[in-house]
Amino acid sequence: MTAALALHESLPSIAAPRDSLARLVGIGKTYGTGENAVTALAEATLDSRAGEVTLIEGPSGSGKTTLISILGLLLTPTTGEVWIEGQNVAGLGEKQLPGLRARNFGFVFQGFNLFPALTALENVAMAIQMKNGRAKDAKGEARRLLELVGLGPRMHHLPADLSGGQKQRVAIARALGGNPPILVGDEPTAALDTKTALSVMELLRELASNRGRAVVVVTHDPRLERFADRVVRVEDGLIQSIGSPSPHAHAHA
Ligand code: ADP
Ligand code: MG
Repeated sequence: MTAALALHESLPSIAAPRDSLARLVGIGKTYGTGENAVTALAEATLDSRAGEVTLIEGPSGSGKTTLISILGLLLTPTTGEVWIEGQNVAGLGEKQLPGLRARNFGFVFQGFNLFPALTALENVAMAIQMKNGRAKDAKGEARRLLELVGLGPRMHHLPADLSGGQKQRVAIARALGGNPPILVGDEPTAALDTKTALSVMELLRELASNRGRAVVVVTHDPRLERFADRVVRVEDGLIQSIGSPSPHAHAHA
């Protein structure tokens, strides 16, 4: 599968390029208390903008998952501010977070996390329904999203009958359900061979460039840098640098 993004308009662009969609300011996270306290992250400040692909790189245990989980409202920080939809949500209660999370974020993980007994179409449709119980035509939206990621012909297959790259495309279609502006991935290509990993990353790149999504991806793989606008390096719980990928790495000049 080479064409990463089918060229039809089933998914509208949702924001002007460079709009800041999510912002972390001075974020710290300490797990546990007292003698068991582990400071996983300190003073992390990061902006996620429409149309931009941000890669987060760093050694194992450096705080990448903690950082991206706080950005995606999956984890509450110990200190700092999380700005989404123009408000600091760090102080919001558990009641408001799920709605805010569902409206703003789509998640893609290393392990795909598809339901084995459901077809690709059913997996995506169910996620859309779970995000929004009042979704009128979840199956229709699921079908359009699977076509968008190039999986139209395989939408009635079970996950076991799909390749790793196809499963991750299903997961990306699922993440796009409900039209969230921000796509977050924690090592989404780690289980894929190089060629497939690059094509999945190319799809995420196109969703940023052509549909105005903000894409933030944790990775160990420096080969993905060619798709990124920015590379954030995390070490020992600190953002060491936020820079451009190497000049020859940029695939979409
Ligand atoms: P990475 O994704 O870069 O591997 P993590 O964010 O998962 O790093 O972890 C950062 C640090 O926080 C590590 O030292 C890890 O052991 C610790 N940590 C992560 N999650 C927890 C947790 N739930 N409880 C205690 N320590 C944790
Ligand atoms: Mg991790």
